[in-house]
Parts: sequence; structure tokens; C-alpha cells
Amino acid sequence: MLATAGQPTREQAEEAIRILLRWAGDDPEREGLRDTPSRVARAYKEFFVGYDTDPVALLARTFEETDGYDEIVLLRDIRLESTCEHHMAPIIGRVHVAYLPHRRVVGISKLARVVDAYAKRLQIQEKLTAQIANTIQDVLEPRGVAVVIEAAHQCMTTRGVHKPGVTMVTSRMLGAFRDDQATRRELLAMINRKGGAGYTE
Ligand SMILES: [Zn+2]
Repeated sequence: MLATAGQPTREQAEEAIRILLRWAGDDPEREGLRDTPSRVARAYKEFFVGYDTDPVALLARTFEETDGYDEIVLLRDIRLESTCEHHMAPIIGRVHVAYLPHRRVVGISKLARVVDAYAKRLQIQEKLTAQIANTIQDVLEPRGVAVVIEAAHQCMTTRGVHKPGVTMVTSRMLGAFRDDQATRRELLAMINRKGGAGYTE
């Protein structure tokens, strides 16, 4: 978590952005850039709102009236917007989150909010994948958790090696998704099933 002690003021943050604008070679006092530092400071609060969110609390409310449902629950194609901690460049992609309920389920929107709670921080994709899976495992204690992330890193597409179209794929499998081949295969088939909305065989 972010250390809040000694946190800079809004004014200090805006001054830092003015310095970066000068570092880029521009004049922060010209008309088009005059309000940029305050806009960027506000944007940072959005990009990094995850530091103010407790992912464990998001999963606190669960439902036990499931009529014994114990098959895979998969939330597919959750939009991912994160920021790479090495270059502070966007990481854009999608996340698939699955779990095998053990007596209780959680509201599906909460799973998407757990993704955001960790995504809206400075991240590397590997750690982000593990944090989402580990939190769901620790709090819900299901029979298994799987998190698969496919994302493009703009630090790779717009700078450095300049390789657009490259997607990085990471996955973390826990419980039955890790130990049971059939369960893992079923999950991957569900993730890859095309056709979007509407269940078709
Ligand atoms: Zn990077």
C-alpha cells in the first residue's frame, strides 16, 4: 500500500508536472499547458484510485442460497486499464476471473471491482494477476481460483522496442484449476468459447 505519511500536497504534485513539461522541452506557462498540471493531478487520482480501495472489503458480502451450485463461475473479458510501474505507461487488456464456489458465491460485479482495486495502481502484469487470484482465494476460500490476463503494454508498443500488436498473457491457477487437468481444460474452453453474449453449444 501507498505510504500516506509524508504524502505531497496537490501544489507539490502540480509543480512536479510543470517540471516534467519543461523536461519534455515545452513551456508550462503557455496557454495550452497552463491548466495541464491540475488536469494531470486529477487524472492521477483516477488512474491510481486503487490505493484508496480495500479489495478484501469488496468481497465481504457473500450469498449462501446457491441450491448447491458448485460449477465454474467465470467472469470473462473484464476491461483492464492499469499502469506499468517501470514506465508509468498504460497497460490495456482484458481479464478473465473464475472460481469454483464452496457453499457461497459473491456478487459478480465485486469480482470486477477487485480487478480494478489492484489494476488502478502502479503494476506489473505478473503481480497484478497473482494479487487478484490470491485475494479471492483468501477471502472466499473457494475450491479453486483462476485469473487470466491478456494485455498490451504501451511502454512496449509506443517506445522501446516498438512492437505493436504484442499481447502478454499471464495466468494464476489455484486449487482445482491448478491440480485437476479436466477442470483447467473446462475453464480454458469456456474462456475461448467464441460468440460473445448468448450461450450456444
Ligand atoms: Zn513498462
